[in-house]
Amino acid sequence: MFFRPGARRVYKARPALQQQGAQKDPDHQECKRDFDCSPNRKPNPRGDASPSRSTEIAIHGQLADHGTDERAEDDAWQSEKQTSDRTESGADHRARTRTKMLRTEGGSGEVDEVACCGDNADYDQRPHADAREVLGPRRHHEADENEDVSRQCREDNADQSDNYQCKAQPVEKDGHTIASVSVTLLTSPRFADHLTPPGHPERVERFEVMQVVASEFRQRGGRVVEPRRATDVELTRIHDKEHVSLIKETAGRAVALDADTFTSPSTYDVACMSAGAAVSAVELVLDAKPGARALAMVRPPGHHAERNRAMGFCFFNNIAVAAAHARARGLGRVAIVDYDVHHGNGTQWSFYADPSVLFISSHQYPYYPGTGAADDIGKDAGKGFTVNLPMAAGATDADYERAYAKVALPILTRFRPELILISAGFDAHMNDPLGGMRLTGPYFGRLTAAIVKIAEECCQGRVVAITEGGYDLAGLAESLRATIRALEGDASFEVPTGPTPRADATIDAVTPHLAKHWQL
Ligand SMILES: [Zn+2]
Repeated sequence: MFFRPGARRVYKARPALQQQGAQKDPDHQECKRDFDCSPNRKPNPRGDASPSRSTEIAIHGQLADHGTDERAEDDAWQSEKQTSDRTESGADHRARTRTKMLRTEGGSGEVDEVACCGDNADYDQRPHADAREVLGPRRHHEADENEDVSRQCREDNADQSDNYQCKAQPVEKDGHTIASVSVTLLTSPRFADHLTPPGHPERVERFEVMQVVASEFRQRGGRVVEPRRATDVELTRIHDKEHVSLIKETAGRAVALDADTFTSPSTYDVACMSAGAAVSAVELVLDAKPGARALAMVRPPGHHAERNRAMGFCFFNNIAVAAAHARARGLGRVAIVDYDVHHGNGTQWSFYADPSVLFISSHQYPYYPGTGAADDIGKDAGKGFTVNLPMAAGATDADYERAYAKVALPILTRFRPELILISAGFDAHMNDPLGGMRLTGPYFGRLTAAIVKIAEECCQGRVVAITEGGYDLAGLAESLRATIRALEGDASFEVPTGPTPRADATIDAVTPHLAKHWQL
């Protein structure tokens, strides 16, 4: 995601790594040519131009220094100060955001732990022992993945009904008890076991932020549960068997699958757990009473992973696997809303011809991965069931508010989903080092609350949010907290105001294509 031709922001990998990848992977250049970030890029049905290719890398001592953020500034909205911030070294940036996080979040013990864990991003870093204590004992399945395991997991889940049944809980907000809601967080200490090279934005500290947020939620009476792994059966509803096998073969090894997608020895297991958390969240919500909601706080993310290709930090497409699982459970209409700053190409292609899964994405455009143009609206029977809101860099809360109000939310309502899934990426946050948008943390709450409102009208309030990107630690924490508040039923987020030129341009671009299929 950070080394991409045409990308507005370039995250420079260490030359030695790039060189090694080029030497060992004869298809490397071919892979690169598959990317076309031009606005005129045509959809690539099923996104299967290039299967994942693996390049074994030696990790020890190869990546001793941090990468450097080099960010071209091409928007008038960015001030001199922002320019200065965004050209500082990645290490400086992380130090700054952590300091800010401590300052703004009050420095609880857990946050101190994040701040004090060092900026070394040691590729061999293991999860903190006390991090495991925060979330309780590990409970996962080590057996072979097959349908029997899937059945066993379901039985186990039934046995662990205390963990997997959502119970309505009163929630304190500003000293008052608001309406009873049923929100469950899913996360696992295993998510700290996926390691990336030093300087990589999708780093283990992101999990530690999630852990802090989960701990806060638990301390105020919330339920945090451990997910199970996804099975091969569940993964192959979206991915080719060959792709699942390829990722499986990386177990125990450090492998570069593309210029910015790396495995570590535990990545395969963790990726299975990440997809499994998405599946577990769907099961939890569908098995619970109406009104149940869940947030799966996972890494690695998933929405870039295609049928036979790992890319953009993603190995398995967690939310697509979750949607397919909901369909397999008998749901007729599932909606996915993806507000990550990057287009969810893998999710789009997974359901491009499928009218039973509505995919709505708002994203910076043109930007990585290059897909998600206004006229990417699906094909065949699925035409009209892919809705893209390509937004120019610099879009604000007000822009998002207008684009969603005019296009995304009316279509979501008219689709009448039986379950709404959210690709909850927070890299459109104003401080994110990869995204170029200007969203505030609370706005992620407002946007989530708008989706929750439609879920209450259409599908008994059933919503499952699954994390994607979000690389500024303080921004990630702030956005996660706002999202949880929204899932709990809080709709008291500030209404954004201001001009909306980017939203207006987006609406003008997409309406001619979507008006044939939806009343807008
Ligand atoms: Zn993203």
